[in-house]
Amino acid sequence: MKLYNTLSKKVEDFKPIHADSNQVNMYACGVTVYDYTHIGHLRKYVMDDILVRVLRHAGYDVRHVQNVTDVGHLVSDDDEGEDKMEKGARKYGQSAWDVAKKFEDYFFYSMDLMGVLRPTLSCRATEHIQSQLEMVLDLEKKGYTYVIEGDGVYFDTSKLETYGELSGHDPRKAHRETRLGEIEGKKNPSDFALWKFEKPGESRQMVWPSPWHPRSFPGWHIECSAMSIEHLSPQLDIHTGGIDHVAVHHANEIAQSEAFTGKKPFAKFWVHHNFLRVDGEKMSKSLGNFYTIDDILQKGFKPAALRLLFLSSHYRSEQNFTIQSLEASQIAWYKLLQSYLIIKQKHENESKNSSSSQLAEQDDSEMKKLDREFFSLVENDLNTPEALAVLWKVLKSDLSDTQKYRLLLEFDRVLGLGLVSMTENDLPAVAAKELAVVNLPIDLQTLFAERETARSNKDFAKSDEIRLIFEKAGYQLVDKANQTVIKQLN
Ligand SMILES: [Zn+2]
Repeated sequence: MKLYNTLSKKVEDFKPIHADSNQVNMYACGVTVYDYTHIGHLRKYVMDDILVRVLRHAGYDVRHVQNVTDVGHLVSDDDEGEDKMEKGARKYGQSAWDVAKKFEDYFFYSMDLMGVLRPTLSCRATEHIQSQLEMVLDLEKKGYTYVIEGDGVYFDTSKLETYGELSGHDPRKAHRETRLGEIEGKKNPSDFALWKFEKPGESRQMVWPSPWHPRSFPGWHIECSAMSIEHLSPQLDIHTGGIDHVAVHHANEIAQSEAFTGKKPFAKFWVHHNFLRVDGEKMSKSLGNFYTIDDILQKGFKPAALRLLFLSSHYRSEQNFTIQSLEASQIAWYKLLQSYLIIKQKHENESKNSSSSQLAEQDDSEMKKLDREFFSLVENDLNTPEALAVLWKVLKSDLSDTQKYRLLLEFDRVLGLGLVSMTENDLPAVAAKELAVVNLPIDLQTLFAERETARSNKDFAKSDEIRLIFEKAGYQLVDKANQTVIKQLN
């Protein structure tokens, strides 16, 4: 198994921290539950799901922990501005707690539809206030923190030689220089809040007492460190997240975790997903290019078609989503599904009609070659686009239906398209083909003209009589305002 590591900026051979163990501790940054999960999130978590499935297929015992950010993530993605949860509460006219519940539910509803396996553990920041607080107190005791009166407890990044190594930035060169001064009292531009205090006049819904302030709350970054260390281990094998989190959120997670545990590295592999653009632009409600899974369903698309579209692009590349690309993917999905169902049927007949010794005599060498080809691609930094090409190659190959059937199901264990549970009912109803009068047999052309006359004479009995003749011949007549449409029945 090979995986690109943001820390080394190289594709490396994947080995867990404890090389002799097959257990993989993987932590994934979850969503901030203040609004609807959109297709950008869907792509990210589908690709996390592929990583988990590939690791499990390769024999690793993956413990996958994913958090739910339900407090402390401020609108600037930094330490300023309103808490996103309080903003969501105002927008939806509900309490911050209700908003958190509502959008956490929506997140998992979306994930289930997309075939994303549930994490081993999903944990909420608001249910880990104590462990976050203890971590900040420990960092304070070790001398890594300072308090800005009326604002919060900050991590002093100048105390760590290696701060910012994930993004290759040296904080002393002030990579966030423009931000310096926005919060008065920060010692270094890259210093970040571990704990925040309610501002005078602010009436927050989510607050807890702390030694520094009676109405306070954790900063955004500390939750991931506290929960991953509590539920996995002081050092993770893999940490995943969006590429937009490299410079700040993940740099800060590393700093506070390594300062807390005294162990390095906090995570051995850092896996980052690239952006999804929509119609070439950043997704936003104001541009009208913001889609949830329900928007996708309402447009008549299947979640599997969307999943297939995500898999057609490498997770480290930016993907541009368009409705046209989803339409093409849906056609491909139906083609795959139809082929699968035919192969499954033939495989069942093949099994019935052959003795087990005949089946055992089959030459499996070509099948095994294609199997290796597929899995060496997905195990090579999740090369799903090329792996899909192998899947199409299998469909066109000379393998027996039983061999094709076995391969498709094996591939789908990592692709997660859900083939195994699909039936004819998941195929679209075949639309009846519309015909022009001239394409009818000549006797029906004459009858059609007779019916048109009957209709204009309001002779409905005769027109119905002729309709029945058409139906017996395999044609449906649909009377519309100005014309009658002819459809060929199957
Ligand atoms: Zn995180």
